[in-house]
Amino acid sequence: MLGIDCHTHTSISPDGTGTAGGLCRSAISKGLQALAITEHIELNRWFSEEHYGASPRNQWEKFEYCDRMEKAMKQNSSIKDSYGSRIHVVSGIELGQPHLDFGLAEAIIHDIRLDYVIASLHELHGKTDFFCLDYNRESIPALMDQYFKELLKICQWGKFDVLGHLTYPLRYIEGEHGLDAEIEKHEEQIRECLKALVEHGCGLEINTSGLRQPYGKTFPTLDILKMYREYGGEMITIGSDAHRPEDVGKGVQEGIAMAAEAGFQYLCYFHEREPIYIRII
Ligand SMILES: [Zn+2]
Ligand SMILES: [Zn+2]
Repeated sequence: MLGIDCHTHTSISPDGTGTAGGLCRSAISKGLQALAITEHIELNRWFSEEHYGASPRNQWEKFEYCDRMEKAMKQNSSIKDSYGSRIHVVSGIELGQPHLDFGLAEAIIHDIRLDYVIASLHELHGKTDFFCLDYNRESIPALMDQYFKELLKICQWGKFDVLGHLTYPLRYIEGEHGLDAEIEKHEEQIRECLKALVEHGCGLEINTSGLRQPYGKTFPTLDILKMYREYGGEMITIGSDAHRPEDVGKGVQEGIAMAAEAGFQYLCYFHEREPIYIRII
């Protein structure tokens, strides 16, 4: 099977289970050519609770991601040694909220053990993860507006490889809670983000996790993928966002079909922060 999975987690991520070896064995058994291991590094909790004078707002908020980064890089190096002859193992991270401290973000991504950096926005400034928000107490138009404003800052920074799961709030607002986020009202904001990505030579991820969740679609959907191409975007990755080995590769074939439908001829994965293109049509 032609395929790559550029977004996966192990138990080093607070919400993941399983091992990097498990991810690799699952990817090899499904015939994938490349697998990126991309643990969560939530930049705004890089240091200890004491450093921020803060405490977790829910069970998912962990601090001291600096320690997880070290664990992740050691894991990825050793897994490349063990599985690198059978599959391209990509040492990545999913860097959350880089816009909250660009100086720190740049220091983190200069780590030479990194092949690949996904930039993500899981939580807005001053708020908890979209996963944990109480949507009865939030204004959805205001949340969506703020989401795209903060996302634009990340896109305009542009020092990462690909933007992860664009339209992430829809997983919860539309998928889990059945509310309408009126995404069409944010088209101009989405276009600004995509333009900034292209200007900075950044890629866009097709995140297939929504296909196996109530949302039922990828992040982002085909229309947005086409817009990225309209602006001259060429770098597309596909990631299952597996948080357990059995989900590796799920939705990748649908993602490839979608990329082809949007007019892309290549997908890419990364090695030492440079794209490696593989032809899909
Ligand atoms: Zn994410
Ligand atoms: Zn993820």
